[in-house]
Amino acid sequence: MVKRKTVAVIGGGVSGLAAAKAFDERGHRVLGFERSHDFGGVWELSRSYPDVQTQSPKDLYCFTDHPMPDDYPEWPKGPQVHGYLHSYAEKHNLGRLFRLNTNVKDMKRRADGGWTLALEEAGQNWQRDVDFVAVCTGQFSDKNIISHPGQESFVAAGGEVMHSSEYTDPAMIKGKRVVVLGGSKSATDIAVNAANNGAQSVHWVYLEPVWRVPYFVGGINFKRLLYMRAQEQQFNAWGKNALQRMVAALLKPLVWANFRGLEMMLKMQLGLRKYGMVPKTPIENEVSCSVPIVTPGLFEALKAGKIKNIQGSFDHYDGKTITMTGGEKVDADVSILAVGWKLGVPYLPEADKDKLIEEDGQYRVYRLAVNPDLPDLGFVGFNSSFCTVLSAEMIANWLVRYMDGQLANQPSDAAMNENIEMMLDWKRNERPAAQIYGGLCSAPFHFKHFDEILSDMGAGKRTRSNLLAEQFSYPSHKAYGAFLASCPQYQAE
Ligand SMILES: Cc1cc2nc3c(=O)[nH]c(=O)nc-3n(C[C@H](O)[C@H](O)[C@H](O)COP(=O)(O)OP(=O)(O)OC[C@H]3O[C@@H](n4cnc5c(N)ncnc54)[C@H](O)[C@@H]3O)c2cc1C
Repeated sequence: MVKRKTVAVIGGGVSGLAAAKAFDERGHRVLGFERSHDFGGVWELSRSYPDVQTQSPKDLYCFTDHPMPDDYPEWPKGPQVHGYLHSYAEKHNLGRLFRLNTNVKDMKRRADGGWTLALEEAGQNWQRDVDFVAVCTGQFSDKNIISHPGQESFVAAGGEVMHSSEYTDPAMIKGKRVVVLGGSKSATDIAVNAANNGAQSVHWVYLEPVWRVPYFVGGINFKRLLYMRAQEQQFNAWGKNALQRMVAALLKPLVWANFRGLEMMLKMQLGLRKYGMVPKTPIENEVSCSVPIVTPGLFEALKAGKIKNIQGSFDHYDGKTITMTGGEKVDADVSILAVGWKLGVPYLPEADKDKLIEEDGQYRVYRLAVNPDLPDLGFVGFNSSFCTVLSAEMIANWLVRYMDGQLANQPSDAAMNENIEMMLDWKRNERPAAQIYGGLCSAPFHFKHFDEILSDMGAGKRTRSNLLAEQFSYPSHKAYGAFLASCPQYQAE
């Protein structure tokens, strides 16, 4: 018999909703805590910049039992994703499990097992003991705040400096000279939005050109080209045995040619040379969660001169002039810093953080979900990907079984530590791109990661019967729904 437990779910974004459903469904008592006034996490409306939309196509950004509405576009806008997440919460009656406006300030492991959470709601503090904690706080909860020399003189002269998440209304830049710093998609989304909404000028400053993938590559939706098992197998994955390494070595010239072909297409289609934006790194070495999708309108705006790109960074502000590291001077009224978020688990005690995070920032997590030295705790959403909703749902279903000792392959601490060391070694020595975000990214190895999770759970079915579809099409939420349903089911009592 599996004993019913009290489980805290911290965070009410995609991952928190997935976790609440998975633990509730097995009969556990779920206590969800979300510090914002609303569900949605990064898609919560007050945190989104205008025109934000998904990078993933809609059928790759949904839960297995809840497709996005037919009338949504292929790449839904932020408010549509927010509405979709609410509809999922309603469908499964998840609202009853959460306390909104409730911040988890810290948590301590109890000697008798479980954790004590320190909570705060509207100035009131209290504590709650739970048997298990599912951490679902994502990678984008705490702004990365940076400043450059002379920022005070810029502000004193009437300039405005903001983090990308604070750019919530195009009225903020109307008639103004805007400079956006950062190489990510949020930087280009904001630059394009500003250029299209009446900014007097827009400069976009980034350190290095990186490969950007357009929604359509050579006229084909990228989901049909880049999300396939056949494509995934061309990247240097972990845990290859001697035979697989030999096959990889034999196929290397073909793989090389495939990626050079893709690079050539991207260079031609986007005109990368013209804008000095050809990346130095081969595309196959760079693909990870940080690879941005091309913001629609970016290259059109570069062509029309509505956005000017500058490679480098800010060196200093001097009144309303920003001098770049390459020496260019740009006059500006608004400086938007699209420099990302601070990855972290601020509510964990320092001693526990030391067990979790290596000195170089890499996380020690088995299946990107648990650390054997931190019992009664797991992470949902730390396996972020190009289809994070599905990834979160998959790992949430794994985590509840792990907690209940119901995995078909329930790992020992020693086996988890051995696997963690193997993965760290692979990330550091074979695939440096996998170190992005503390190593908390399963892309581009979606199929391999899901294969492992399903095998652990004892799924009766792990691949589609149509072998062609399995090799040459994207991870389908419907298929993964069926695979999850084929796992041994149980109820806690
Ligand atoms: C603009 C943008 C576009 C994106 N597009 C895609 C895409 O197309 N495809 C894709 O796969 N991924 C995309 N992502 C990645 C995205 O982060 C994930 O898809 C997913 O939304 C992450 O959900 P999450 O629940 O793990 O984290 P979040 O959405 O960050 O949610 C975490 C929640 O935890 C809460 N929280 C944090 N700390 C505490 C605390 N101490 N106490 C209580 N609550 C707390 C936060 O308030 C937040 O609501 C995008 C991200 C951004 C920013």
